[in-house]
Amino acid sequence: MYDVIIIGSGPAGLTAAIYTTRANLKTLVIAGGKWGGQLMLTTIVDNYPGFAEGIQGPDLMLAIRKQAERFGTEFVDEDFTEGDLSLSPFKIKAGKKTFGGKTVIIATGADTKWLDVPGEKEKIGKGVSSCAPCDAFFFKNKKVIVVGGGDSAMEEALVLTNFAESVNIVYRGEILRASQIMQDKAKKNSKIKFIFNTEVTKILGEEKVTEVEFKNNKTNEISKMDLDGVFVAIGHIPNTKVFRGIELDERDYIKVRDHTKTNIEGVFVAGDVHDSHYRQAVTAAGFGCMAALEADHWLRGQE
Ligand code: NDP
Repeated sequence: MYDVIIIGSGPAGLTAAIYTTRANLKTLVIAGGKWGGQLMLTTIVDNYPGFAEGIQGPDLMLAIRKQAERFGTEFVDEDFTEGDLSLSPFKIKAGKKTFGGKTVIIATGADTKWLDVPGEKEKIGKGVSSCAPCDAFFFKNKKVIVVGGGDSAMEEALVLTNFAESVNIVYRGEILRASQIMQDKAKKNSKIKFIFNTEVTKILGEEKVTEVEFKNNKTNEISKMDLDGVFVAIGHIPNTKVFRGIELDERDYIKVRDHTKTNIEGVFVAGDVHDSHYRQAVTAAGFGCMAALEADHWLRGQE
């Protein structure tokens, strides 16, 4: 029986583990088959405090994991499959094993949102990507587009300019959602151009991406562009589908009450799985800390 089972191993989950183990609580992290969360798909992280020169995302995650291990956190590198979250002690399944926990912290983060247009799904890895830091290298001297108008789209485009010949940012609106600083960076880069009021309607090509069909949503005009890559940067979907009985908001993020509590006594939440607003590594880590303190407090109240 664990005092705390943490589901998820991004900055929120691992920070929670550092705090719970340091509070002498027996802690298990269900880390997932692909542990570490979104930062494992990033290159340089420049805005995480404590790293004057920045740090690579995977290096940061490894350091946080080692820190959690140092205090005795146990890890299962398998996906959470199901769990009975109706009453403490909770039964949590990962792989073929079931674990018992007096409290649970849900820190499963959020996944990439795809465009859901014809040709997209089957071309993932064959010209369609959601991770420029992972895949930009394969687009040396190629033509690519980035879809989206937020900070992610700007960042993806900037990474791509290190390799690609041209980068068009395709945005369905007119006024970018991205922060001014990110917009300015993208606009200053001579390789980046913008296509506004435009949606991708089809991704074409036999083996790999060769062409994209657009629709101008003001004029309804359909056009096509020859290109090699489509980077989708249109936001994320919270990983909440697997949790039954947990109250969600209208966008399927976990509904938080009283800082880090859920609708179930003894089940807490931390990070992007409830926070659609900030979505930063450092805020996720902060939420992890808060959830751990609350779990500790709740456990002591049960004694
Ligand atoms: P956002 O939700 O901010 O932006 C998503 C963008 O995708 C919007 O422009 C949206 O259009 C567009 N979009 C959504 N759905 C579709 C669709 N089906 N088809 C076409 N376009 C679509 O997500 P981000 O991932 O960009 O950013 C999330 C958070 O992370 C933000 O808070 C951001 O600041 C932060 N972030 C910060 C970074 C940094 O500081 N370096 C880097 C990356 C992210 P519309 O505007 O019309 O809704």
